[in-house]
Amino acid sequence: MASFLEAIKVSYGYRAQRWVVDGVSLSVEEGEFVGIIGPNGAGKTTLLKLLDGLLEPQQGEIRLKGRALGEMSRREIAQQVAILPQEVTFYFNFTSLEIVLQGRAPFLGGLRLEGERDVEIARNSMAKSGTLQFADLSITELSEGEKQRVLVARALTQQPRLLLLDEPTANLDLNYQVEVMDLVRVLSQQEGVAVVMASHDINLAAEYCHRLLLLKEGRVFCQGRPEEVINERVLTQVYECHLLVDRNPLSGSPRITLRSRLNRK
Ligand code: ADP
Repeated sequence: MASFLEAIKVSYGYRAQRWVVDGVSLSVEEGEFVGIIGPNGAGKTTLLKLLDGLLEPQQGEIRLKGRALGEMSRREIAQQVAILPQEVTFYFNFTSLEIVLQGRAPFLGGLRLEGERDVEIARNSMAKSGTLQFADLSITELSEGEKQRVLVARALTQQPRLLLLDEPTANLDLNYQVEVMDLVRVLSQQEGVAVVMASHDINLAAEYCHRLLLLKEGRVFCQGRPEEVINERVLTQVYECHLLVDRNPLSGSPRITLRSRLNRK
């Protein structure tokens, strides 16, 4: 049977002659939590945009429940797929609640406005991401981390079957890193949501993801369970830095520690 999400030999380049995503194949099942790691410029964000249908592959194909993304409308895709982008610029003084309610848009017909049920879903999501206290505040007044959590609430409000996360913890304090990641884990475990997360934070990815895809210059360098991907030989080669891999004493997941390039005293 086909996987829930399948990318088959997908390539994409912003300019001719240079693939930024180069022949990437990936399949994700419902309830699976997959991490995409790799150095800056490896193609992580571009791959997420392809998986959301925001960019169209120039080679290869992406299928959601067996249907080619290219044959689906934006609205059809948005009824199943939510993306938490890395950077969002807000030009208008929407309140946080209004931003979160945008997550209901794919389910509203034509000019129909949100109903009570939509507001309830939105407020519920805000409670989960710890942002209910910002409901009536303008989004532009919030800190980067607070905005990030409002965007998490917007993605939850979309009630997606596939959640795409681009550096979801980049601006978050330690406590909110754990909270957001736990929230996503519960969604995948209990509600069977498929999750694909791009992250710089190798330790968090190793801790939460079932499987990791390591990209280098647009290609899959290696993929597998975190303990298969997170090893010194592979990471030293890809990131070109020295590091040590051991195990997280609490969970047993692989854990990296960076080594300085300077001679130590
Ligand atoms: P990552 O998320 O792994 O840092 P990206 O997917 O953001 O990688 O970028 C991969 C490559 O594509 C980079 O070299 C980047 O400069 C280039 N790139 C990204 N977005 C654009 C764009 N809109 N136009 C042209 N080049 C881009």
